Amino acid sequence: MIKKERLFTPGPTALLPQAQAAMAAMTMHHRTAEFKAVFSGTLKRLQAFLGTKNEVIILASSGTGAMESSVVNLTSPGDRVLVLSAGKFGERWEKLAKAYGCSVDLVTLPYGESFTAKHIEGRLTGANAPKVVFLQASETSTGVQHDVQGIARAARAAKSDILIVVDAITGIGTQTIDIDGWDLDIVLGGSQKAVMMAPGLAFLSVSARAWAAMETSKNPRYYFNLRAERKSQAAGETAFTPAVGLIAALNAALEYIEANGGNAGLVANAEALSAATRAGCAALGLKGFGSGQPSGSVSAIAMPDGLDSGTVVKALRQQFGSVIANGQGEMKGKMIRVAHLGYYDFVEMFSLIAQLEVVLVQLGKLDAGKLGTGVRAVQQYFLAAQTKQTAKA
Ligand SMILES: *Cc1c(COP(=O)(O)O)cnc(C)c1O
Repeated sequence: MIKKERLFTPGPTALLPQAQAAMAAMTMHHRTAEFKAVFSGTLKRLQAFLGTKNEVIILASSGTGAMESSVVNLTSPGDRVLVLSAGKFGERWEKLAKAYGCSVDLVTLPYGESFTAKHIEGRLTGANAPKVVFLQASETSTGVQHDVQGIARAARAAKSDILIVVDAITGIGTQTIDIDGWDLDIVLGGSQKAVMMAPGLAFLSVSARAWAAMETSKNPRYYFNLRAERKSQAAGETAFTPAVGLIAALNAALEYIEANGGNAGLVANAEALSAATRAGCAALGLKGFGSGQPSGSVSAIAMPDGLDSGTVVKALRQQFGSVIANGQGEMKGKMIRVAHLGYYDFVEMFSLIAQLEVVLVQLGKLDAGKLGTGVRAVQQYFLAAQTKQTAKA
């Protein structure tokens, strides 16, 4: 039987054909007027997509490169920083900050819970208060989002010059992030998530406050020297050889996104698919992982007792070619994760829930008489959403 491989993983995600084509067709040399025009145009599109007046920088690296560049450019060894960690990516902030000699104030929550303003209460007062707060918008390892707006407001109120750095690698395009309105200093993303293209690019928006902090911070930096990139990128160039093909892909993807409702449209799509997935799973007796605010980027679904999620991941891949994610680290075996960020639609959601039902029946975790129950819940969600939209129009 033919099986089409489809990625439902929260990075890399499903690829936009137009972006793939643009990448394959790209042959320009990077020190030419033609490439400068493409690159400058892409930066402008990206800035509009992110909805900020802040300068944006594109790096040839995975998303973690943008995280590392935030740490090395903003901090000096010994600086006190606040890290909010409730999952594998929060833990990455902690490790990165420690690797560069920061003194880390760590706030943790159990996996699956969400941070809100109350979790930073009293953490940013006093003469030696932390200089930077690092957090995720969406914690991809647990499928929950944090209250970036509330946290940013409380942090700014407690310490007006605090630097707020948001890993929005799966938050961009899946939840509302008002960079300028919420006064966020660095917001960073990666290409293999909601922008529907291959891995290899990271990008970040940088506030005037963050640029100023880089003038005095002392951590060593070379490849990830954002001030050098700023100078080059303002002139349509990059400090080192850019990933030209990926930049062409990003440009094409942003063009597609613009034509389909922009960032807000992408967020609405991800939120609808995520809510529908939860409804479908609930109808099958499956619960979301943890008690936090579910993220639109990825649904983390807990497995019934006695069922290792790895078995489900394997069965979906082997029988249907659908690639979903297992839990990470200690969460491995406990949950499946299904992505909604970027290039996904309801046709895929109907199908994935149908596949999941088949696999659960095979594994003895769903009565065959209940086949279609989850799919029906997704269909009902879709119909209700259509009715609401028609009523609005
Ligand atoms: C994917 C992801 C990253 C970075 O991953 P890379 O593998 O370095 O691209 C960081 N944070 C979050 C929240 C992510 O989802």
